[in-house]
Amino acid sequence: SQRTLVLVKPDGVQRGLTGQILARIEAKGYTLSQLKLVNASREVLEQHYAEHQGKPFFEPLVQFMLSGPVVAAVVEGDRVIEGFRILAGATEPTTAAPGTIRGDLGRDWGEKVQKNLVHGSDSPESAEREIGIWFG
Ligand code: ATP
Repeated sequence: SQRTLVLVKPDGVQRGLTGQILARIEAKGYTLSQLKLVNASREVLEQHYAEHQGKPFFEPLVQFMLSGPVVAAVVEGDRVIEGFRILAGATEPTTAAPGTIRGDLGRDWGEKVQKNLVHGSDSPESAEREIGIWFG
């Protein structure tokens, strides 16, 4: 089995979609092994998004992620890293396929950041790194 870090971003929490998003993860058959509601610090976000430092959307992204609480979860299951990214859908909510979290629940809002409801780790190395950042 494998594990991944999932975040319900501030737009998902503010819109009251946390339950629906976690329900989709559970309905797929994955297990929630750690779960918390947190106000992220700038330090945590700069570590989490280190690969995006210097990009034009970096500062708006950090500001967005500081705008309200996020739900952080460790999710487990066979091939869960790939499986959750398919459940989440493409980065841009406008073009994310229907049936996915972003495609069903998200849209564009004309802002500098893609408010796309969720994050999921993109590799086993990222997952272990990100779980360490969020859960210590
Ligand atoms: P995915 O990998 O599924 O596309 P992600 O969350 O891993 O999603 P990243 O490329 O790691 O995407 O980008 C991190 C976050 O930064 C995105 O989820 C989105 O909120 C924001 N973002 C990424 N690219 C852009 C962009 N070109 N313009 C605005 N915001 C962006």
